[in-house]
Amino acid sequence: MKKQYDAVIVGAGFAGSVCARVLAEGGRRVLLLDRRDHIGGNAYDEKDESGVLIHKYGPHIFHTNDREVYEFLSRFTEWNGYQHRVLGRVGELSMPIPFNLDSLRIAYGEEEAASLEALLVQTYGRDTQITIGALRSSDDERLRALGEYVYEHIFLHYTAKQWGVPASEVDSSVTSRVPVRIGHDDRYFVDTYQGLPTDSFTALFERMLDHENITVTLGCDACERLTFANGEILFDGEVFLGDVIYSGMPDELFGYKYGRLPYRSLDFEFKTLDMDDFQGYGTVNYTMHEPYTRITEFKHMTGQRIEGKTTVLYEYPRSYEAKEGQIPYYAILNPENLALHARYREEAALYPRLRLLGRLAEYKYYNMDAITGEALRFARSIL
Ligand SMILES: Cc1cc2nc3c(=O)[nH]c(=O)nc-3n(C[C@H](O)[C@H](O)[C@H](O)COP(=O)(O)OP(=O)(O)OC[C@H]3O[C@@H](n4cnc5c(N)ncnc54)[C@H](O)[C@@H]3O)c2cc1C
Repeated sequence: MKKQYDAVIVGAGFAGSVCARVLAEGGRRVLLLDRRDHIGGNAYDEKDESGVLIHKYGPHIFHTNDREVYEFLSRFTEWNGYQHRVLGRVGELSMPIPFNLDSLRIAYGEEEAASLEALLVQTYGRDTQITIGALRSSDDERLRALGEYVYEHIFLHYTAKQWGVPASEVDSSVTSRVPVRIGHDDRYFVDTYQGLPTDSFTALFERMLDHENITVTLGCDACERLTFANGEILFDGEVFLGDVIYSGMPDELFGYKYGRLPYRSLDFEFKTLDMDDFQGYGTVNYTMHEPYTRITEFKHMTGQRIEGKTTVLYEYPRSYEAKEGQIPYYAILNPENLALHARYREEAALYPRLRLLGRLAEYKYYNMDAITGEALRFARSIL
């Protein structure tokens, strides 16, 4: 084994697969392992029993301003040009999210909205984007009240559901990033490049990993094959001198020796319905007291034409309790957890050829474009 491969990569998501491709093209022989029975990590998609293309781990929309990332991935796929639009179901009302001038009309009615619009335009300018934080700290009483409305109806309960905390404990400082648009643009993302792979994410990964220097082994738990002791990495019991790139949970890699890193998880409920169109939008966010945060209808995103059937996905946030089949999705970023992660990072640093890379390994939120960019840079630095 140690003679055969120059690198062992754990995880066939964006972190691992991008590294595998770059190293393979640089002449390195790569072994890519994943414990799942498929490639693609959380971006994996497949057709369900009714033939609808679904995203098994929640809706994934590619968007970036990073031209290098876009061009790299475009070697393995064309894009369908989908621009994500999200409708907010706010009690009985439905309005665009991010909150914009159309949302304002729906929330306040024509007359009041016209007067607020004039005030917004006068204060911040037309077609600008501000934050809820700016509104809530405005000197103008009416703007502050509008900020409170958006904070409570769009942000507060949704965030409390997402993170499993009472609304009273939601850190109001986070609102500094939540956008409000003084215009009619209702796209969720405003990045230059947006879309879904024309065929599927899985096809993108298949092409990216189709290289003579890459061997993919699925259904394989790398923690059962890698051992770390006294500065040496063993693979299948033999000293391995090549690079090891690991995109799983660092606490698991080191036998939870400093304790478990906390994560948030999600329960997914897929429903296939005998109709052409369920909600008219890719995603509807439920911002108030429903137990789910959002419903996704995949056909609107993938553009797939299939008559009389549609599949929707309800997302229920949950705490991650390491139960069988449960998946850790989001790192919970607070000082205590980051300090715990730092201990695992220090442990990893004892092995110079080991690199923790990706949303789990680095205990941070990455969009697909960001982890692709990071993986490109890292793999090139090895070469
Ligand atoms: C619900 C949801 C929606 C999202 N939507 C978007 C979106 O719209 N746009 C966007 O840009 N980003 C989105 N993201 C983020 C996106 O999923 C991540 O950027 C991406 O998955 C990160 O890739 P990764 O390789 O780090 O991790 P992953 O995709 O999680 O891949 C890690 C892989 O490692 C494997 N692994 C772990 N441990 C081991 C082990 N011991 N042995 C073998 N294999 C192992 C896992 O099985 C997994 O396949 C979303 C994330 C979630 C949770």
